[in-house]
Amino acid sequence: INPKPAYRRILLKLSGEALMGSEGFGIDPSVLGRMALEIKELVELGVQVGLVIGGGNLFRGEGLAKSGMNRVVGDHMGMLATVMNGLAMRDALDRAYVNARLMSAIELTGVCDSYNWSDAISNLKGGKVVIFCAGTGNPFFTTDSAACLRGIEIEADAVLKGTKVDGVYDSDPAQNPDANLYSELSYAQVLDQELKVMDLAAFTLARDHGLPIRVFNMNKPGALKRVVMGQNEGTVIHK
Ligand code: UDP
Repeated sequence: INPKPAYRRILLKLSGEALMGSEGFGIDPSVLGRMALEIKELVELGVQVGLVIGGGNLFRGEGLAKSGMNRVVGDHMGMLATVMNGLAMRDALDRAYVNARLMSAIELTGVCDSYNWSDAISNLKGGKVVIFCAGTGNPFFTTDSAACLRGIEIEADAVLKGTKVDGVYDSDPAQNPDANLYSELSYAQVLDQELKVMDLAAFTLARDHGLPIRVFNMNKPGALKRVVMGQNEGTVIHK
């Protein structure tokens, strides 16, 4: 049997925290290398991969603002943190012999390309992984918003949100050992039950454009491939 992937084009969102491994800060090269190999498997299956990386392992505007920094400046630092993660991920993909482009929402001549919609689409069609960094380019947004925005722009079949937990639960699994994992939810259920999936701006953008969101555990080896092969993994949120 040679089962086909369930998706033709995906937008994979990895939080900055997913890259830091067991360290409390920064980027763990072994984690990065493993993720590059997991992404490579998808490319080999013929899946087109857009990637949005967070920056929470380095800086978050909200956190910096709590210590007194101007929020806009803090958000600029957060967005630049996602560029650093993006550079590290592109390098890890290069080393794994995966063709990848890094496109930034903030112009950084000589460091990476600037985001351009039609170039992104042609690169995806050419089998290159396109990493979108610097979030949306605007303060007061998150990289989850960037993931939904880019996901809609590139007409991805779904946003796959790689997290530290297995999916969406009815209560916090870190607090409640009896928390139940949902395998499927509607956008309305998430909003009614105030379940934590993404911030509201990101979530309603996905809902308004009918973009399915799948939350899964990126630390579980092979989970990403199972998601892409349409196997039961994590939680899917759709209409
Ligand atoms: N950020 C921003 N605008 C965006 C995306 C991100 O200002 O469109 C800033 C914001 O300060 C955020 C930080 O970049 O906290 C890192 O992104 P995020 O917190 O989404 O990273 P993650 O939690 O996914 O690691």
